[in-house]
Order: sequence, then structure tokens, then C-alpha cells
Amino acid sequence: MSGRWPGGHDHELAAILDRELDRQNTTLQLIASENFTSPAVLATTGSVLTNKYSEGYPGRRFYGGNQFIDQAEDLARQRVTALFGAEHANVQPHSGSNANLAVCLALLQPGDALLGMRLDQGGHLSHGQAVNISGSWYQGVTYGVTRTDERIDYDEVRDLALEHRPKLIIAGATAYPRVIDAAVFRQIADEVGARFLFDAAHYAGLIAGGAYPSPVPLADVVTFTTHKTLRGPRGGCILARAEHAKAIDKAVFPTLQGGPLEHVVAAKAAAFFEAAQPEFRTYAAQVVTNAEALARALATEGFRLVSGGTENHLVLVDLRPFDAELTGKAAQEALDRAGITCNKNTIPYDPRSPFVTSGLRLGTPAMTTAGMGAEEMVTVAGLIARVLRATDDEGSLAAVRDEVAALCSKFTPYSGQ
Ligand SMILES: *Cc1c(COP(=O)(O)O)cnc(C)c1O
Repeated sequence: MSGRWPGGHDHELAAILDRELDRQNTTLQLIASENFTSPAVLATTGSVLTNKYSEGYPGRRFYGGNQFIDQAEDLARQRVTALFGAEHANVQPHSGSNANLAVCLALLQPGDALLGMRLDQGGHLSHGQAVNISGSWYQGVTYGVTRTDERIDYDEVRDLALEHRPKLIIAGATAYPRVIDAAVFRQIADEVGARFLFDAAHYAGLIAGGAYPSPVPLADVVTFTTHKTLRGPRGGCILARAEHAKAIDKAVFPTLQGGPLEHVVAAKAAAFFEAAQPEFRTYAAQVVTNAEALARALATEGFRLVSGGTENHLVLVDLRPFDAELTGKAAQEALDRAGITCNKNTIPYDPRSPFVTSGLRLGTPAMTTAGMGAEEMVTVAGLIARVLRATDDEGSLAAVRDEVAALCSKFTPYSGQ
């Protein structure tokens, strides 16, 4: 880090950045929504483009001096529409939540009903939860998964759609290990005259890499984050059918946001370039292969997997059959002490609160970027099981922490910085 950080006398901040770099290099990152960006994405995010005000869109800015900023944003738009085969793109949303809110602002009136997935069964705050603006300005109605196979209950989606006549139906999830059937959602949306938004926040990289079916031909609008499986800078993006282009652009600016983060927009262009390379297809396939390997190895260690396994980049572990007393919260904390970073997560019909939970969510995007394969996933599952069999044994946690550091030293995301 010291080679890249011209911090001058600000040793206090430089030391913090060094410590975070060291944490990323020496501990296991299993948070399903995280990844390691490339040097090009990092450098672009830290570039002089951060200095520029550019409210508006390419060719229609409210400030002068945007000739090169326009080129960067145009490049990002061209690359992302080509990558996903979309008719229109808006690359300005500061985050995935902003992208979703912009879609609501473009397609709904306050008070309209929208139908999204339940938060405690894998959905997202921005899909109509009461604590989020999507559920306070709009009438949020939610569907879930079945108790039997723990897959989305498409019959319930249809029943709720017929009953509530939502103007917008949202598919997409933050903790759902299966492929979502976008064709069924399209059919239901058509049946009730709703628009269909597919939130691909978690899946964008897998879709770009051909490891997850593309919802783009089926949905009116597709939103996603650029920092999860897509491996770009922290931010959001909206793809839309041409008929919605004007409304979407107006919703992002001036309704919701002011000046775009053009250094991040340019870094999105860098990520879209990388995602279009053949190596990225290999990466996306390996992310899924690794998740399958992790799922199998965890099952061998005695863990129950929600829905019985995975078809994407994450697994959701039900801890109760492994240890009825072990909560997601206690498991996350013990794993943290052993250098394994993940998050507690509710499982479908979880008897415990969202602050405690009975589950863990584990993802493979970051480990795969670091170069790990199926063999390492077996090792990782074994380390997790050792920690969770003895969460109070500090000696055992320290031993695992050393093994984690040894493993990470062979798969260092930012070596030599
Ligand atoms: C991560 C995520 C988002 C929001 O992303 P932020 O950039 O954190 O606002 C939206 N939808 C889903 C399904 C997500 O998983």
C-alpha cells in the first residue's frame, strides 16, 4: 500500500489503510456480496475524474469541461449494453439501492403496490420493506419460499399479484442459493399488467460470464450493483427497454441524484471491459463450481444447506442440525476471531430474530478471484467446521487463524502493494 498511497504526513490514515489491506490479504473473505477489484478498477476509482462536476448526461451537461467525462460515460454505457444485450443503460446510480429507488420513481406513483421477496427469506430492503423508502412511499407486498423445498413459491407470487394488482413486480434476492425463473415472473407480470424489475445485484457477474441465465430479454428493467460478482467499483447500474429509457434517466437525475461520481462511472467501464474478456467466463463458471464444492464439503461436515445446495455463488447454512444451540451471531463472531469473514443470515422461517439468526451466508466470488479452486473449498469447509465445533476454545481458534493465514498467503488478492 505504501507504494500507492502518497499520504505525506498523514500517518494515522495511512496506517488504517495498511491495516485494511493486510486484513484483506491475510483473512478469508466469504461475504457473498464482496469481491476484489482489479488494479485498473482501483486506479480508475482513485483517478482525477473525481474532481469533475458533470450533472446531466453525455452531450447534455450543466457544466463545461466535460468532453472527456462524456467519453468515459459513453464508453461505460456502450460496454454495458453490449455486455448484457440491453437497449438502454444508466450507469450513474451511486448504489444498488439508488438504482432500485430510481426504477420505483420512474414507474410508480406514491401509494402504488409493488411485489417483492420477503427480506427474512432472502429479499432486499429496497424491494418494499416497511423500514425502507420502497415500503413507506409504496405499498410493499411480499412473497417467500415454500417450507418444503425452500424455493420461491411461484404460486404465492401469482396469488398475491392477482390479489394486490401491483404496478411493479420485483425478482431478485440477496440470500437465495437457487436460480430465479425470470420467465415465470414475466408471465405473472403480464397477467396482471405489472412492470417486471429483475434486481441482479448478486448475479450480474455470473450473468455477464454466462454462468446464470440472463433476465435482460424478459424484464422491463434490470438493476444491479457493480461491486459484487461483477467485480467492479462500488455502485449501481440500470438496464432498461428503450420505452423506459427517458423515465429512468429522469428518475436518476434530477429526481434522485445530483452530480454523478464519474471516477466510479469510469471504473464501471473498466469492469465492463474486464467482464467481456474470455477469462471472465472462466471466472464466473469457477465461482459456481466453488460454491457447489463448498456446499458438498459443508454437508459432509454435518451442516444443512437451505434448499439442499446451490446453483449460484452462495450457500445458506442452517446451523441448527449441526448444533441446536449455535446461533448465526455466535458463529459469525467465532469465525471472525479465526480470520474467516462471513455474515449471519436468517434462514427461511427462522425462529430467531434477524440480529441473532440460525444461519450463515457464505459466498465464493472473492475467494475465486484470489485464485482458489474446489480443493481449497474443502479446506475452508473443514476450517469452518473446526471453529464451529469449539467456538469458545481460544487455542483452537488461534490455530485455525494460523492455518487461514497460511492458506491466504498462497492466494493473496493484492500481493506486492
Ligand atoms: C446488494 C443488493 C442491493 C443494494 O446494493 P447497495 O449498493 O448496497 O445499495 C440491492 N438489491 C439486492 C438484491 C442486493 O443484494
